[in-house]
Amino acid sequence: MSPADRPRTTNDSGVPAPSDEFSLTVGPEGPTVLHDHYTVQKMQHFNRERVPERVVHAKGTGAHGVFEVTGDVSRYTKAGLFQPGAKTDMFARFSLVAGELGYPDTVRDPRGFALKFYTEEGNYDLVGNNTPVFFVRDASKFQDFIHSQKRLPDTGMRSHDMQWDFWTLSPESVHQVMILMSDRGTPRTLRNMNGYGSHTFSWMNSGGEKFWIKYHFKTDQGVENFTDEAAMAMIPEDVDFHRRDLRESIEKGDFPSWTLHVQVMPFAEAEGYRFNPFDLTKVWPQGDYPLIEVGRMTLNRNPANFFAEVEQSSFSPANLVPGIGLSPDKMLMGRIFSYHDTHLHRIGTNYEQLPINRPRAEVNSYNKDGQMTYEHSGDQPVYAPNSHGGPVADPSDGLEIGWSVGGGEIGRYAYEKRAEDDDFGQARTLYEEVMSETDREHLVANIVGHASDDVAPETQLRVVAYWGAVNEELGAKVAEGLGIDLSAMNGQMEAARERVMALADHA
Ligand code: NDP
Repeated sequence: MSPADRPRTTNDSGVPAPSDEFSLTVGPEGPTVLHDHYTVQKMQHFNRERVPERVVHAKGTGAHGVFEVTGDVSRYTKAGLFQPGAKTDMFARFSLVAGELGYPDTVRDPRGFALKFYTEEGNYDLVGNNTPVFFVRDASKFQDFIHSQKRLPDTGMRSHDMQWDFWTLSPESVHQVMILMSDRGTPRTLRNMNGYGSHTFSWMNSGGEKFWIKYHFKTDQGVENFTDEAAMAMIPEDVDFHRRDLRESIEKGDFPSWTLHVQVMPFAEAEGYRFNPFDLTKVWPQGDYPLIEVGRMTLNRNPANFFAEVEQSSFSPANLVPGIGLSPDKMLMGRIFSYHDTHLHRIGTNYEQLPINRPRAEVNSYNKDGQMTYEHSGDQPVYAPNSHGGPVADPSDGLEIGWSVGGGEIGRYAYEKRAEDDDFGQARTLYEEVMSETDREHLVANIVGHASDDVAPETQLRVVAYWGAVNEELGAKVAEGLGIDLSAMNGQMEAARERVMALADHA
């Protein structure tokens, strides 16, 4: 393009810029003058380019797509986006959990799997991970958990000791740590991993019948993982490998897709189920609740502007649509508060007005004004109830899915144990019945590699006890790998075991 055909540079008020290169100075070698508003504005704006990075899930990437219903789950939910034949525009953001903005993509970490569906009934956000379970089951432990995965207060370094210290003192983490330490902790690409809603949610059909459900997005590309070695080798080659892979595959028309399935539990079955079905550290065995196909999500368009569409995209599990509700999962309850709160801080009061977050459905809210308000309600009354034609809620539209809590007393409760509510059972099933021999070998090698590096000897004993509680042979292999001679421990190993088991009993 010849210079004459190119657009003219302006300042942010649209006024033609005086120069792309030269500041306003007193003579060619003199000082810059303060009234060089154009240069000053460039500096001021540059200083304000960053928004606070997400405390968790900081590094991510995303793409636009569509969700198409292929099954018929109308007998379980009235949600419009899940009705036969429905097609809904959506946006997906994938992310690391602990890694900061510039972190290498292929490190061992769970991956965020956050989805925003722009439905006719408002935005529905499903903010999941690539694992069906989580490290803790109570939101009051979440901040401590994340601190332990981030950086030491004095050195600013990450610490494997801190990670294993927290995990082994929180035995409910063992199921998730096993998946993290397996090769699923290092997905080959974002296209080759599954996504899970992880929590239990509720659905309600048009007749008012309620169900508990879990979401599974199975990758149509097949699950593929890096070995630890291959994941590490990718770091110097391309720190943005996952970001690049997703972008390039969409660019060349190779659109990744995932098939959504749900598990459905009739509402009344939760009470008598053999373990707490709202415990985020557990899956529902598929033998009890088989997968039912719902539809397919296909990512088919890259963001045109990364900051506007990926950095500013803001998801909240509180964004539910009619026919979809919560459950008594204590982690989910905490997240309902936390996500909106963090976006208010990170992006601003009116973050939901930005194009990436803006609902396609009409917004008729009584919230008003605030920093950066763009959408105004004109002369709509600013209070309800009013006699001036302002919006009125229809309780039948906005019906929330409730459940009964049996008149308990307010208190701080551990999960009440049911017949199969131990921390180690499902990790044991995964290890003994689901993993292949290669998966098991890689798991041991990954645990040993991770726990050998900068982990205190007393923490290492607990690492052995933690895995030994899942499977004795697994514990012995980890001990051998860590060079711990169990016969020479003089009761220290027993003490570590008792500590881990006591913590598990307490949960
Ligand atoms: P199933 O045999 O019916 O399901 C096993 C599930 O495990 C499949 O969904 C499979 O997902 C997944 N899986 C296969 N290999 C691995 C691996 N190496 N690491 C992690 N997950 C893997 O058994 P159950 O439903 O009774 O579950 C048994 C165990 O499987 C659970 O304790 C849990 O650890 C794990 N699991 C269970 C899930 C569930 O929702 N029930 C979901 C994911 C894991 P895929 O088809 O993608 O390979």
